[in-house]
Amino acid sequence: MQDEIKSLQRWIDDSRSIVFFGGAGVSTESGIPDFRSVDGLYNQKYAWPPEEILSRSFFDTRPEEFYRFYRDKMLCLDARPNQAHKKLAELEAAGRLRSVVTQNIDGLHQLAGSKRVWELHGSVHRNYCVRCKKYHPVEFIQDSTDIPVCGCGGMIKPDVVLYEEALNSRVLEGALEDIQSADMLIIGGTSLAVYPAASLVRYYRGHRLVLINKSPTPYDAHADLMLAGPIGQILGQMRV
Ligand code: ZN
Repeated sequence: MQDEIKSLQRWIDDSRSIVFFGGAGVSTESGIPDFRSVDGLYNQKYAWPPEEILSRSFFDTRPEEFYRFYRDKMLCLDARPNQAHKKLAELEAAGRLRSVVTQNIDGLHQLAGSKRVWELHGSVHRNYCVRCKKYHPVEFIQDSTDIPVCGCGGMIKPDVVLYEEALNSRVLEGALEDIQSADMLIIGGTSLAVYPAASLVRYYRGHRLVLINKSPTPYDAHADLMLAGPIGQILGQMRV
C-alpha cells in the first residue's frame, strides 16, 4: 500500500489538470448514508423502497410521502466535509485540480471550498417553485411540514435528479469536457455501477486513471493505479 500511496503522490505532483470523480463513498465518511449500500437506507423501514420514493412519478403522485422521506433521509444538513473534500479543495486552490464531478447532492465539496463542481444529480441546496421558478433555500424545505409551497401557491421541487428524470445536459457536458482534457482522473467512493458513471470514465484519454474504493469495481482492470480503502484516509495523506 505504501508504494501505491507514493505513486499517487508523485502523479498528483506531476499533474496540472486533475479531475476527481466521486460517488456516495465520499460522503459516507461525513456520516451521510449511501442508500445503495447494505448498511444504507435500503435496510431501513419505509413503506416503499427508496428507489421508488425518489422517482419522478412518485413525487408527482405522492408528494407528501416523498417529502416525509426526503426530509427524514436525504437532508443531512449537519454533515461536515471530511478529509477527501478538504484535500480536493486544496488541490483546486493550488492549481492542480480542474474540477470535481460528483454523484452526491449534499453540497459538501462547495462547503469545503471547491469552486468548480459538476453535480450530476443536482443539489439539495437548490429548490425551485414548479409554477413561478422562484428559488428557495434548503432550510425552507427542512422547516416545512407536509408539502413545501411557494408564496405563489406552487409546489416546490428540489433541484435533485430523481429516478426517471434526465441528467442536466449542461452539467453532463461540462463534466465530459473536463474529463476529456484531464491529465489525471481520480475516481473514488463509487462502484461505477450507476449510470452514467461508467460511461463518463470512458472519456478519459490519459494514462493516470486512479481508482480508490473499499470494494472491487467493474473498472479495476482499466485502472493505472488502484488503492483499496476509505477515500478520506487516503487523500488525507497527500501533500499539496
Ligand atoms: Zn412560486
